[in-house]
Amino acid sequence: MAANPLELRPLGNTGLNLSCVGFGASPLGNVFGVVSESDAIATVRQAFTLGINFFDTSPYYGGTLSEKMLGKALKALEVPRNEYIVSTKCGRYADGFDFSAERVTKSIDESLERLQLDYVDILQCHDIEFTSLDQIVTETIPALVKLKEAGKIKFIGITGLPLENFSYVLDRVPPGTVDVVLSYCHYGINDSTLEDLLPYLKSKGVGIISASPLSMGLLTETGPPEWHPSSPELKAACKAAAAYCKEKGKNVSKLALQYSLSNKDISTILVGMNSVKQVNENVEAAIQVSTVGKDEKTLSEIEAILKPVKNQTWPSGIQQS
Ligand code: NAD
Repeated sequence: MAANPLELRPLGNTGLNLSCVGFGASPLGNVFGVVSESDAIATVRQAFTLGINFFDTSPYYGGTLSEKMLGKALKALEVPRNEYIVSTKCGRYADGFDFSAERVTKSIDESLERLQLDYVDILQCHDIEFTSLDQIVTETIPALVKLKEAGKIKFIGITGLPLENFSYVLDRVPPGTVDVVLSYCHYGINDSTLEDLLPYLKSKGVGIISASPLSMGLLTETGPPEWHPSSPELKAACKAAAAYCKEKGKNVSKLALQYSLSNKDISTILVGMNSVKQVNENVEAAIQVSTVGKDEKTLSEIEAILKPVKNQTWPSGIQQS
């Protein structure tokens, strides 16, 4: 049994308690550079050992590679299934988007096989802005309800970038149908727009997951990957913030994670990690927040650097009618 110094937070009405730092497994699909199988296994083991109990993946990450790697790594833990919580997704694949009932119903069986699991705790519609939201409401979610009844998934979630889509869906499904919302790149130092939606999400009783506290690599010393969709202006401001921190002997990623962790209405902050070192740093950053608090002084200095680009985002998805 892992020692658990990390805070656990309830996930809406699910009854699940998630570690405040969650393990984003997209890097295991080589999304941010190549990760060997042995490194993937060691990284997941270290995360679990240090108290991270929530692991998020998708068939889209690395064209199914992330699910396969995570499956191997979880199996290698050799611990009872109820000691970790797994979420995966449906509707977004390497070959495009398909949120039809037929595809998502088939998709979960494929995911379970790759993950070597009998069930996942959460199945999420992956990036709902890429289809008609009415399809999500009338076709995809009802298909996921059937998967829940069949015991293949415990809870249903929706993910995406544009925040307004969450309320569109939640206002149109029966209460309690959607258990979880995963937002990304909207609760960090450079963009905190998720904050305004939190009271609404809480009123709906959904669990709130916020992903990408480092803005998918913008708030790291090495910078974002080639495919990062942000503007040159936002990239330059984040680069300047990272350089400022380095000059002061601080780590911009640690500060960014601490910023995101400080809002307890958010159940977990999902960080993508690809090495034991990153796991150690991120867990240490989280423990520091709960023991000595955030580095408020440096954070306010970085916020000042990022002020001209604050809450700047990028387009994602199709035009909704
Ligand atoms: P992120 O902001 O967590 O950044 C990940 C990058 O930061 C990687 O390059 C990683 O190696 C690096 N990193 C992590 N810890 C570091 C540290 N201590 N120091 C320096 N660099 C560090 O972005 P992300 O991985 O895209 O998001 C986290 C997870 O959230 C994903 O893996 C995925 O599981 C989930 N997510 C879901 C969606 C969606 O459903 N639409 C979108 C984005 C993210």
